[in-house]
Amino acid sequence: MSTSDEGRSPPRRPATAVVHNGREPFAQHGFVNPPVYRGSTVLFPTVAALKKGQRYNYGRRGTPTVDALQSAIAAIEGGFETKLTASGYQAVTTALLAFVEAGDHILMVDTTYQPTRQFCDVMLKRIGVETEYYDPLIGAGIEHLVRKNTRLVYTESPGSQTFEVQDIPAIAAVAKARDLWLLMDNTWASPLYFKPFEHGVDVSIQAATKYIVGHADAMLGAITSNARAAKHIERAHGHLGVCPGSEETYLGLRGLRTLDVRLERHQKNGLVVAAWLARRPEVARVLHPALPGDPGYEIWKRDFLGACGLFGVILKPASAEAVAAMLDGLTLFGMGYSWGGYESLVIPFDCTSYRTATKWHPEGPALRFHIGLEDPADLIADLEAGFERLAAV
Ligand SMILES: *Cc1c(COP(=O)(O)O)cnc(C)c1O
Repeated sequence: MSTSDEGRSPPRRPATAVVHNGREPFAQHGFVNPPVYRGSTVLFPTVAALKKGQRYNYGRRGTPTVDALQSAIAAIEGGFETKLTASGYQAVTTALLAFVEAGDHILMVDTTYQPTRQFCDVMLKRIGVETEYYDPLIGAGIEHLVRKNTRLVYTESPGSQTFEVQDIPAIAAVAKARDLWLLMDNTWASPLYFKPFEHGVDVSIQAATKYIVGHADAMLGAITSNARAAKHIERAHGHLGVCPGSEETYLGLRGLRTLDVRLERHQKNGLVVAAWLARRPEVARVLHPALPGDPGYEIWKRDFLGACGLFGVILKPASAEAVAAMLDGLTLFGMGYSWGGYESLVIPFDCTSYRTATKWHPEGPALRFHIGLEDPADLIADLEAGFERLAAV
């Protein structure tokens, strides 16, 4: 068995890459997993080495553990280079700061992860960058929003909370023609189910906290870029002092090994529960791009390789008390932010107060579900009892 994953051909298929990339067992006495390198100081053997520099110079600037996960994600997502961050949100903010300066205008999708919006409205505004929000379904129409000082287009597909699927290739064509950077938050699909660089994206952001870590036990982010964008990301990452934790990085590597099988199950269970919900009399609509009939289905089918376990549901009109009675009594669904772990979650949401380029008028209360790795029959029984409580209020 060779000791390195460098320079192999043909390229590995994704299920193989998540298992083998970023590992060099015989560089560490044959142990299957890499050790966790912890450290600030890195020693240089001689004055000459100090002058010349070496592969590792200082803990913040990289360790073999960090390199292992970075190289694996870059290969799987299909980018030139990956830089890890201490959270998914830090991947968002670092990627945005890598490209903008005072006087710039950026185009931000209205359905972006809500903290991303706050970063634009507070921090980017402070440094003189103007953010304009656009409808996620704009497609090639983004052309009409481009100004002389527009620097980048930011996408997230499907959209946070409401799961609109963006026409990334159409937006990429405009970005290319107008010389704009195209960024994408690709967390929903993970590096496995959407290949951003094949669709014209320059920079892909992953909240690795979600499916890569996969066990709700660490915060981690990843910024993957193409060769053109890589030097900008490297510079911002270095100057901002971005540094993932060593233990968290290890947990990212650990999670990555099972990403393919976990996602396959999240997808399958998610579709079973979503289809069941769609048939319930209490449900007005299910927001799941991989369900035939969903407004995003055609583009999802064209561009994506799969779906994760995260989707939304709009209930028919019901009182807040009835929804609380439904959710409070669930035994298998936890209530909490974040998602991507092995467990099922549900959370109510309402985008009415903060969306600006689109109007959010749901028929009734909205819920976001993350379907975990449990047996879906048990999840359905739990929800069925929940609907009985809803009806009883
Ligand atoms: C959770 C999330 C983030 C932020 O990741 P953290 O690791 O929680 O900071 C960014 N984008 C999306 C789409 C997310 O769901």
